[in-house]
Order: sequence, then structure tokens, then C-alpha cells
Amino acid sequence: QSQELSQVQIDYHAALQALVEDGTRMVCTGRMHTDRICRFESLCYSTEAEEFVYFHSNSSVMLPNLGSRRFQPALLDLSSVEDHNTQYFNFVELPAAVLKFMPKPVFVPDVALIANRFNPDNLMHVFHDDLLPIYYTMQQFSDLDLEARLFFMEGWSEGVHFDLYKLLSNKQPLLREQLKTLGRLLCFTKSYVGLSKITTWYQYGFVQPQGPKANILVSGNEIRQFTKFMMQKLNVSLEESSGEEYIVVFSRTINRLILNEAELILALAQEFQMKTITVSLEEHSFSDIVRLISNASMLVSMHGAQLVMSLFLPRGATVVELFPYAINPEHYTPYKTLATLPGMDLQYIAWQNTNREDTVTYPDRPWDQGGIAHLDKAEQERIIKSTEVPRHLCCRNPEWLVRAYQDTKVNIPSLIHVIRQTVKSKPGPKKQKWPGSLYPGKVRDAKCQASVQGTSEAKLAVSWQIPWNLKYLKVREVKYEVWIQEQGENTYMPYILSHQNHTFSENIKPFTIYLVWIRCIFNKNLLGPFADVLLCST
Ligand code: UDP
Repeated sequence: QSQELSQVQIDYHAALQALVEDGTRMVCTGRMHTDRICRFESLCYSTEAEEFVYFHSNSSVMLPNLGSRRFQPALLDLSSVEDHNTQYFNFVELPAAVLKFMPKPVFVPDVALIANRFNPDNLMHVFHDDLLPIYYTMQQFSDLDLEARLFFMEGWSEGVHFDLYKLLSNKQPLLREQLKTLGRLLCFTKSYVGLSKITTWYQYGFVQPQGPKANILVSGNEIRQFTKFMMQKLNVSLEESSGEEYIVVFSRTINRLILNEAELILALAQEFQMKTITVSLEEHSFSDIVRLISNASMLVSMHGAQLVMSLFLPRGATVVELFPYAINPEHYTPYKTLATLPGMDLQYIAWQNTNREDTVTYPDRPWDQGGIAHLDKAEQERIIKSTEVPRHLCCRNPEWLVRAYQDTKVNIPSLIHVIRQTVKSKPGPKKQKWPGSLYPGKVRDAKCQASVQGTSEAKLAVSWQIPWNLKYLKVREVKYEVWIQEQGENTYMPYILSHQNHTFSENIKPFTIYLVWIRCIFNKNLLGPFADVLLCST
């Protein structure tokens, strides 16, 4: 892979003339800076000013044209982390005519995706904030194909996981620092700026304590499409659960240790009658870890970024997350949320150390490794006495850090007990069931017929046809839900029915208008859309 930009030959004079005459063109999607991605022609970047530059000419376009709202607070988020004030994107404006006084532009011929990585040294952040969002941003725009080039503008060096970023395109990704070596004024022929947030499932606690995102839009299906792509690129084949079943213990070797790992491995092997192996980021290559995890029946690990690797587990496998003393598993759920996404088909189990004797705390380490020696004595004492870290914001809460970096002697009987509450027989992969869950369409040809008996009684006969897609499907159970609402009232009577017609007589009054809402339900919980409301007069 070459770092040169000259793989596609471009006619320099034509490109320069186009830039001077046409200026920059920008058209964006999204209504807010937090959901915006912009496509540019002729967006430039001054490596001296470290600013993007938009050149105005008679033909330039800027949509949305926000005026000074472009700075309130920014045009868009450059990383997938929502509204983080260190991750904003904007540009400065100039008339294209001043190009003749500027350094000669160097044109970038590749289609570019310009974004920030959020925390490239942490594996959870690498997958959740960068790799998945980049992969699906590229899926969104057809010219962001494998020949596109990634530009990382956050300013970090490559980082330990750079090989993973390289898998997303055939061209070497470029870092902000490297742009200087290419020229003083770079102009991207075609570029996209920003990342899709559609696949992210977790918010890290910058404005409220961490937790699952409020509106998760990704399912296991899309996660698994992504992991399939990554495995192909890593040359890891998906073996059809050929060999022996086994358990993987993913261990950390620097901090947050399992102190009785040998005992834990033996106990798991004995309890589940399965081979049990350990892996760690320090001792195994990334592809080896993926190969091992992608065929495992169970993954056991301390809470921590390495657990994001459970996205490579086969369907039906079990994730066991171990939490150090005083850390409430319910308050730190990035891996639980991942494992329980619809269609991930993983079983998730959390275990917490509740014995003070089984924890080893390191209050004297530097603050970023959980040390608390810099705090005043009373505060240190309070923290050490506390039995649970209260909810807190990211990222430097010392009480959280000192607890997060404890080592743990895992209480084996208590762990086995917790696993056994969920895993009754043998854990293990299961054959993929397809399709996962399909929803019914609208019921069709709904009709109603009223009949009045005397002055106080009436009946309403309602009938409809099955949803159109049902005739192509095998569905275990088909039911219909009917709501009958008297016009002008805000309550309704709900009914669940098995047939395609029903005559309602309870609470039906003569000379009244009823609104009838009907929808189909597959297998108890797959609710379809309501058909157009029926107006029925008795
Ligand atoms: N890490 C590791 N072994 C260790 C400690 C950390 O491989 O003993 C990795 C970890 O998986 C993550 C990175 O180093 O990718 C940063 O770890 P940190 O403890 O800062 O973050 P956390 O795992 O709590 O998210």
C-alpha cells in the first residue's frame, strides 16, 4: 500500500481551473449537527492553519446554508460520539479568487472519508465508535467503496489497533500529521465528512451517567454482517462448528486481573465438561483471538474493552462478564447491551465480586490507573469504606477508577451458581435460524356492518383479510388485535382475536359512530401496523 496520492492520474491544470471557477460544493444529510454527514466537491485543507477551507465562487453550493448557526456549536460531529465538544467539524471560508495568492493546491484524487477516531487505543472504542460507524457510513454512500481513502483528523498517531482500520479500504488511511508531508494546501476532489451514528448502542456518560443509547437502531444482523466482512479480511474462515466445543477465558495481564485464573479455568472445564482456554491481547494475535472466539461456546472475562470481541461469538454462545468489588454491573452495560441486541442471539450473564477479602485495591498507583493518594484523607477513607461506586459521569471519577482497576479472586461456587441459573445444560453455538423475525403487513379489505336491535342494543360485525405477506410465510401463531373506539372518546376496547371476523355486541350502542382499528400480530410479539381506520355507524 502506497502513501502516495498519485494512483489516479488527474489533469492538474483542469483540476485547478475547476476549483477556481466552481469553488467548493457541499450538500449534507441530517437536520442537526449531531446527525449530519456532508458530501463535498473541492473541500480543501490548509496543513499550516490546520483548518478546512471552503472556497466561494459563482458555482459553489452550501447546503444547509446555516449562516452563523454553523458555529452553534458546529456544522457536524467528526466522530461517532454524539455532540462531544472536542470532535466538532467546521471550515473557514474564502473567495476562490484568493487561490492565486495561496500555496499551489495538491489534489487528493481518491474519494475521501474524513472523520475522527475517538479513542484508538481502546478496543471497545475502536469497534463501537470507529470501525462499525466507518463501515456503515461507507455502505451508505456508493462511491465510498474499497478504493476510497480514510483520513483520520483527530491527531493521534496510528495506535495499537491500526491494522484493523486498514481492513476497511484498500488504501492506506492517512493521519492528520501525515497531511503536512503532502503539501500546504490539500484539496479533496470528492469527500464525505462525518460518521453515521446509526450502529452505536452506548453513551459513555459525558452528560449523564453511562448507559445504553436511548434509541438503538442496530440489530445483531448488521453487527454480524460487519463481523463477517472483518473475518474475511482477516482470513478467518467461519468453520461450521466442526471441532470440539470449548470455553474461552479472555484475560487481562496488566491490570484488573483474575487472581485465581488457573483455578477458574479448571472449574469451568470440569463443570461444563469442555476444554477451556485463555487468550489475551498481549499474548495472541488479533486474528487468532477472532478465530478462537468465533467458534467458542462461552466467553468469560473481566469487565473491560476486550469484551467487545463478543461481537465475534457465534449465535447461541454465552458471555460471562466479571465485575470487581463495589462495581454494580447494572451501571456499566456496554457489553450487556451488545450481547442482548435483538438478533445477536447471545446469552449474557454478569457476576460481581461481593467479598471484600477477594479484592485487591491499588490506591497508591497514579490517578489514571486508579490511584487515590492525591485525594484528601477523609475522601480516601470514604471511598475505601464504600460498598458501591455511586453513578457518576465520565471519565476521571477516582472512586470509579480505583474500583475498576482492582484485581479479583473469583469465588468459584458463586460464579458457577450464577452461570447455572441461565445455562442449564451445555452452553454452545446453535444453528442460525432464518428469518429472525418478520412483521405482518396491514390487514386488507376491512369492512363493518352494523345492526340495531331496539333503542338500546346494537351489533357491529367486522371482517378483514389476512396481510398480503402472510400467504408467503410460515407463521407459528397469527392473531388480530381490534380496538373499538367511540368517536370523540379517548379510550377504546381492545380485543385479541384468532379469526378474520367478529361480531361485537358488548358496549355497542345504537346511533353511534365507532372507529375500528385492526392490526395483525405474529407469534405473540411481532405487532404489525394498523390498517386505515374503519368508520362504522350503528
Ligand atoms: N488492556 C489489555 N490488557 C490489560 C489492560 C488493558 O489488553 O491488562 C487493553 C484493553 O482491552 C483496552 C485497552 O487496553 O483495549 C485500555 O484498557 P483500559 O483499562 O484503559 O480500558 P477498559 O478496558 O476499562 O475499557
